Amino acid sequence: MARLIFLGAPGAGKGTQAQVLAQAHGIPHISTGDILRQAVAEKTELGRKAQAYMDQGELVPDQLILDLVQERLNQSDAVSGWILDGFPRTVAQATFLDNLLHKMNQSCDYVVNFEVPDEVLVARLLGRGRKDDTESVICNRLEIYHEQTAPLINFYQARQQLVSIDGKQSIEQVNQQLAHLVSGIGSP
Ligand code: AMP
Repeated sequence: MARLIFLGAPGAGKGTQAQVLAQAHGIPHISTGDILRQAVAEKTELGRKAQAYMDQGELVPDQLILDLVQERLNQSDAVSGWILDGFPRTVAQATFLDNLLHKMNQSCDYVVNFEVPDEVLVARLLGRGRKDDTESVICNRLEIYHEQTAPLINFYQARQQLVSIDGKQSIEQVNQQLAHLVSGIGSP
């Protein structure tokens, strides 16, 4: 049982770690970016609305994201835990999530902040080669991260939910630290 929010800039390693940890604990890895990319690939209405924002590295409007997250967290596989990767990304989204979890009688165990310097992020993202990983889009995404998402570090620190991890370490080292953190979470 674990309920975790992974916070960090694009390229910080959230997705890689979330995938491994979610599988190890039999809980869903909920990546809003993955859900949106799938919607784009399937050319659904959501995908058509989201695509232009994603291609530019802009945030998709909240109205497209909030219902999607609410629906996903209400699915039966999310009852016993989840890892949120890429959500929340703004203080407004975090406030929405707070209210939603309160209504659902759930609470997040930890918000894990992946700390990685910008120059390392840029090198990693250029190496990843995803469609939205061109240099100008990467710069835009990092700028938006610093402006809109980084304030969540203080938001969650003030609630004493924040745990920071050095995301420059190897995948294995980060994985070990996360495993240790999760092993300390008790049953509800
Ligand atoms: P990611 O895979 O998390 O880097 O997300 C890829 C893209 O999807 C982002 O650059 C945004 O355009 C969009 N996106 C993902 N999650 C969110 C979110 N919580 N709020 C707004 N846009 C998002």
